[in-house]
Amino acid sequence: MRTERAPRAPGELVLLGHPVSHSLSPRFQQAALTAAQLDVQYVARDVSPADLSAVLRELARRNAAGNVTIPHKEAVFALCDAHTEVAARVGAVNTFWFDQRGSLVGHNTDVAGVSAAISAVLGTNVFPHRVALLGAGGSAASVLLALEAWPVAEVRICARTRLRAESLAARATLAASAGPTSRLSPAPRANFIIVDHLGDAVHHADLVINATPIGLTSDELPVDPALLAPHATVLDLVYRPGETPWIRACRERGLRAEDGLRMLVEQGAAAFECWFGIAPERNAMWDALEPRPYGR
Ligand code: NAP
Repeated sequence: MRTERAPRAPGELVLLGHPVSHSLSPRFQQAALTAAQLDVQYVARDVSPADLSAVLRELARRNAAGNVTIPHKEAVFALCDAHTEVAARVGAVNTFWFDQRGSLVGHNTDVAGVSAAISAVLGTNVFPHRVALLGAGGSAASVLLALEAWPVAEVRICARTRLRAESLAARATLAASAGPTSRLSPAPRANFIIVDHLGDAVHHADLVINATPIGLTSDELPVDPALLAPHATVLDLVYRPGETPWIRACRERGLRAEDGLRMLVEQGAAAFECWFGIAPERNAMWDALEPRPYGR
C-alpha cells in the first residue's frame, strides 16, 4: 500500500541500526530538537535483526518515530503497514512514524538527502548529462530516483555484482514506463548502461557518484581520479572524519568534490520535517558537527 499518511507528533525519536553507536544522527538531530524547543530525545538504539519486529511494536505503544540505518532499511520496509511513494520506489525505509490509526508508515528521506547533496556539489547552472554510478545497493537506488529531477541522458552503472546493477536498472526503467502519472518523474528518463570496468563508467561522466562503502574504513579509492574527465563533479556518499581519501584525491586534481556529510544532514532534516511538520534549523545541525568542512 502507498500512502502519505501524516504522523502523530512523536514523544521520542530513535535510530535503529546494528551497529549504531558510531552514528552522527543523535548529535545533529538533538541540536535541531533543542533549537526548535521540542522536549523530545533522539537516541541511537542497537537492535539485532531478530529483535526488530518486537522493538517496532514497543515503539508503537510509546508513540515513538525515528530513522533506520544499516542493516535494517529493507527489513523495516517489509514490516511497515504503509509506505510513501518514495519509499515504495526505493524499496527501503530510513524514516518511520506511526499515523493517527497507529499504523507503521515507512518513508525514505535518503532521496531528498542525496538530491540536496547533488545540487550543492554541482552548484548553479550545471546540469549533468552523463552520470557514472558506482554501486547498486540501497543508496544507489536513492541516487537514481533523485536524478530524475535533472535532465540526465545516460547513467552508467558499475557494480561488483552485475546482477544487482541489472536489477536496479530494470526497476528504474520499469518506473519510467509508469509515465507521467508519477509525480516523481518530471524529467525525460535516462538510458541505463551496465558496465564492467570502472574506466568505461567514468571517462565521459559529468557527475561521478560513489554509492559503495569503499573508503569508509580503509584508504582505498573507489576509482582512480586520473580516469575522470577534467570537468567531472564528484560526490562520495561515504563520509568520515576529515573527509574521505577519494574526495581529497579528487580535489587535488582540481575537481569539484564533496563527501556524504551533506546527504546525511539533509536526509535528517527531511525526516525532522516529516515528524514535526516544520523545517529544522540547519545551522544548529551543522554546528553540532563542528568543525564544518569546506565552509558548509
Ligand atoms: P548496500 O546496499 O550494501 O550496497 C553497497 C554497494 O556497494 C553494492 O553494490 C555492493 O556490491 C558494493 N560494494 C560493497 N563493497 C564493495 C567493494 N569492496 N568493492 C566494490 N563494490 C562494493 O549499501 P548502501 O546502503 O547502498 O550504502 C553504501 C554506502 O553509502 C554506505 O557504506 C555508506 O557509507 C553510504 N551511505 C551514505 C549515506 C549518507 O547519508 N551520506 C546514506 C546511505 C549510505 P555487492 O552487491 O557485490 O555487495
